Amino acid sequence: MTTARILSGSPPAAALRRQTAAAAALLRDRGIGLTLATLLVGDEAAASVYRAQIERALQGVGIGHLPVTLPAATDEVRLVRVIEALNLDQGVTGVLVMLPLPNHLPTSLIQEHLSPLKDVDGITPENAGRLHLGLPALRPSTPQGGIELLDYYGIQLSGRLAVVVGRSSVVGRPLAMLLSLRDATVTLCHRRTPDLAALTRQADLVASAAGQAGLIRGEMVKSGAVVLDFGVDVVDGKVLGDVDVATVAAVAAAYTPTPGGTGPVTAQVLARNTVAAAFAALGGGYEELGRQTNPRSPRRLAPEG
Ligand code: NAP
Repeated sequence: MTTARILSGSPPAAALRRQTAAAAALLRDRGIGLTLATLLVGDEAAASVYRAQIERALQGVGIGHLPVTLPAATDEVRLVRVIEALNLDQGVTGVLVMLPLPNHLPTSLIQEHLSPLKDVDGITPENAGRLHLGLPALRPSTPQGGIELLDYYGIQLSGRLAVVVGRSSVVGRPLAMLLSLRDATVTLCHRRTPDLAALTRQADLVASAAGQAGLIRGEMVKSGAVVLDFGVDVVDGKVLGDVDVATVAAVAAAYTPTPGGTGPVTAQVLARNTVAAAFAALGGGYEELGRQTNPRSPRRLAPEG
């Protein structure tokens, strides 16, 4: 019988949506429009689905969407030119490049050329470095959303043992850093981690961003642990997470469902990061971002309520 609490992403996503819509309206009232450009190279089906989700989230908060699609055969020179044009385009507030790129295009092209102040998913060296130093930054939306989901449900992070499965630069690694900044003790795992189960069994929080359906099973989870699932795995046309809910729900205290868990919060953090990028461009750059992203900051992004 399922006893674990289901941590739905809908309520925290709705709270974020209200906050971001209010902030976007403040800017609109001052004649400042907001647009997020999404750049997709190729026509990967999963990326198109993600892009449609982002578009819905942007519409819900009054942010425009500029979809830019390049053919899969785009070469490095052309890709860099398009990024540089988006950097300079004053009508574009933020840019999200849909990853992974086709194999012949290194991700470093984006990391090296995208303007850090338009980098709404926190992938540039400037934003990643600032995150690691605990400085104001545009933070990667997926792990930041995961932390905000846990905060919404009042889940304590300080003093907890956390195991993060997956070390990509957009999900696992920044999540480990964000958890560490919140005083959790973090172990970051990957394919070569010996005896993953021995580590996850010790954890108060297991977060999985591996992209392997059913990887985290009940016998790998400590009784009463919280399980955060980022995986989006399509199996026989069905969307599943990394977590084997049937077995994990019997031992965990709480877990995020897939779909409907971390995903909706990610899209809302992306929308909020677009607003934050606009404030940063208008005001004091990263100093302004500090006010948007630091919950202890005296000035908030939008009025409460
Ligand atoms: P990625 O770049 O493919 O990274 C996957 C990571 O998981 C790698 O570090 C890999 O280890 C590790 N891994 C894979 N299988 C493993 C295993 N059996 N045991 C231990 N570690 C394993 O993927 P990503 O971009 O981080 O995305 C991860 C998942 O999150 C995907 O399913 C993606 O669709 C999903 N996602 C969800 C959201 C959301 O909002 N919920 C947003 C973005 C992505 P190595 O480094 O050793 O290869």
